[in-house]
Amino acid sequence: MSNCWICSATIDAANDTREHLIPNSIGGRKKVSGFICVSCNSDAGQTWDAELARQLQPLSTLFNVQRERGTVPPLRVETTAGEKLTIRPGEPLLHTHPEFKETPLPSGQRLLEIRARSIDEAKGMIKGLKKNYPQIDEDDLISQLKVVETYPEGVFHHKIQFGGAVSGRSIVKSCAALAASLEIPPDNCQFAIDYLRDPNGEPCFGYYNETELVTGRVAGVPMNCLAVKADPADGLVLAYVEYFGAQRVVACLGDGYSGEPKSSVYCFDPRSGQELPVSVSLTFSKADIDQIYDYQKISPEGMKTAFDAVVGPAVAESHKREQDRVLERAVEKAFASCGAEEGEILTQEHLRKIAGTVFEEMAPHLMHRLRRIDGAK
Ligand SMILES: [Zn+2]
Repeated sequence: MSNCWICSATIDAANDTREHLIPNSIGGRKKVSGFICVSCNSDAGQTWDAELARQLQPLSTLFNVQRERGTVPPLRVETTAGEKLTIRPGEPLLHTHPEFKETPLPSGQRLLEIRARSIDEAKGMIKGLKKNYPQIDEDDLISQLKVVETYPEGVFHHKIQFGGAVSGRSIVKSCAALAASLEIPPDNCQFAIDYLRDPNGEPCFGYYNETELVTGRVAGVPMNCLAVKADPADGLVLAYVEYFGAQRVVACLGDGYSGEPKSSVYCFDPRSGQELPVSVSLTFSKADIDQIYDYQKISPEGMKTAFDAVVGPAVAESHKREQDRVLERAVEKAFASCGAEEGEILTQEHLRKIAGTVFEEMAPHLMHRLRRIDGAK
């Protein structure tokens, strides 16, 4: 028998639920029972966890988080040139909406232009136009449809927000969930309980990057990490949370612990869900904790270093994937269209054609890269 850490209702077989230690949205798999009731699980998921997922979505997209359930939802961005784009992890960018333009011509005719995101969508749009313009030759238009790939004119910026009262409760709930899985009683985690139960409760966490608390970190891995340590020597129940290797938080769940010393770590690579064998050093005094809550143990340089360590390799990897995709397609198309039969020895003329097609197919990508290098200067 236990009580819900959020609403204090008695948890029994009827309302028990398995709660993710780290939310499913960012790749968490491990769960705990007897922690919160089914109704609090649902409410917290739709509010606290949803806000945390929203704040972390640019990172979930960049790292292509492998969820146990569902996939990362598409991320919508607007570029500096006003283009509205949709990003799906591991896929090329798409325009968020199809486009339709109708221009009257001096001759009295009308010019209709459509830009769809797929051949099927274009077919649907042509069918729709046919209703207003019965004179349209639908089959002729469909036979002329062409797939064109372009790169955005502008660039887009991700504003990474993190923290606040709503997602802060998701962070503390994760810490409390790991404490519950260690059978640390909620009575010894009164700071966490007060914060989770009272909408005006004092936050019991702060941002931290003064020192490296993780031993066994693998460079470039955007790990999600959760750790709890309960020590009867000082009574403190301390916790550490890290999202994507970049956002780092220390929490103090309570200060009256008197049981056996306990600690646990749950750490995984969100790109695969694979657990990582790290340890976390939590040796803060109450005075240290006060300084952490007062933003004295976090520096912008430290945050930038942590971000660069995981985001840099991921961006480079995504550029390489795009280059491989374009090159492979260009080579395939060049061989198919050079006029040589299968098994035939290639002539100079074939090779000239192949080189020409490869260059033509790769030109938009190369130009885009040159522009990017130029822009970075
Ligand atoms: Zn509850």
